[in-house]
Amino acid sequence: MIPYGKQNIAQQDIDAVVAVLQSDFLTQGPVVPQFEHAVAQYCQASHAVAMNSATSALHVACMALDVTQDSLVWTVPNSFVASANCALYCGASVDFVDIDVTTGNLCPLALAAKLETARAAGRLPDVVITVHFAGQSCDMAAIAQLAGQYDFKVIEDASHAIGGRYQDKPVGNCDYSDICVFSFHPVKIITSAEGGMAVTQNEQLAQRMRSLRSHGITADPTLLTEPSHGPWYYQQQALGFNYRMTDLHAALGLSQLAQLDRFVATRNKLAQHYDALFAKVEGVTPLSQSDNQYSAYHLYVVRIAHSTGQLHEYLVTQLRAQGVFAHVHYIPIYLQPYYQQLGFEPGYCPASEAYYHSAITLPLFPSLTTAQQQHVVDTLCQLLSDWQKNHSALKE
Ligand SMILES: *Cc1c(COP(=O)(O)O)cnc(C)c1O
Repeated sequence: MIPYGKQNIAQQDIDAVVAVLQSDFLTQGPVVPQFEHAVAQYCQASHAVAMNSATSALHVACMALDVTQDSLVWTVPNSFVASANCALYCGASVDFVDIDVTTGNLCPLALAAKLETARAAGRLPDVVITVHFAGQSCDMAAIAQLAGQYDFKVIEDASHAIGGRYQDKPVGNCDYSDICVFSFHPVKIITSAEGGMAVTQNEQLAQRMRSLRSHGITADPTLLTEPSHGPWYYQQQALGFNYRMTDLHAALGLSQLAQLDRFVATRNKLAQHYDALFAKVEGVTPLSQSDNQYSAYHLYVVRIAHSTGQLHEYLVTQLRAQGVFAHVHYIPIYLQPYYQQLGFEPGYCPASEAYYHSAITLPLFPSLTTAQQQHVVDTLCQLLSDWQKNHSALKE
């Protein structure tokens, strides 16, 4: 079976983790700050806060931006559930902005229209969480312009996009957002096994996130609110969590970071090869790429023309039966039973639903071979032609 994504672990990664195992600290040692410093430098952010997952990072990012039960947070349906759950963890209300079907990303026109309606109704969002789907940056300049106009904060969920660029600068530089979050789950671009990181240019936000990831506790003498009792003294100043990353995970992440540019270059090369193969195939369209960005290509997604639920299900099932582990990203979040209970109804974001019924994620990872790519494309084309034959036969 060819998986849809897979980590790349080299001897240098193994050596880096073993070195930590043989050191004095398995957690809260020197490697987490080294990894944070390296990621901050890589993406030209002044602060980076490592956590045990991107989900944790999204949660404390919301908290740092004062998301509470009185807040309203908007995100897109075309994402992993964590992009919306983080707001619910804070007790906030969540709502969804529709996407552009050709990219899978938040549609700035849909956002502008929804903001106009929301202003008229007197309930504007406090925070908008954008998702750089499949590794391609959203139109951040347009989103930031609306953020200024309607006064909301912006979190970039860049779980798919470390190593990508927007307007010739690295994703994560926060030129157009308050906080940007990365995931290091094994299926993403680089991995720390489990792990995530929040980056920001704002020192106060970084400090709040650092406190919240570790119980809301600090021992920093400059932050204490009363005189220290002695050298053992620390204070809990907020209700935080244990969301810390370990040094073992950070060592793997740091070692992977050194290979990031090569991974992303390879992913782009493989994606271009798929694009060339599909250029000759009618009815199969890769996601469109806007030209002011460089995708990290976490996922390679094609859209099937005139796709119905039945054809979509047939293609993904048969691809898997024939050794190609195709996937679908994503079921619109609000169609999940938990979100249906909150009152969202099918049809709420039509573009996200149309996109969902047409999208197939094909295998893409750095060690994928061109022979495997040819097999993927041939298998999909054969299935499409089988389907068309059967269905035109039925009509006759
Ligand atoms: C993977 C992912 C997450 C969650 O990442 P974890 O590190 O597994 O918590 C959040 N958002 C998006 C868009 C993701 O793809």
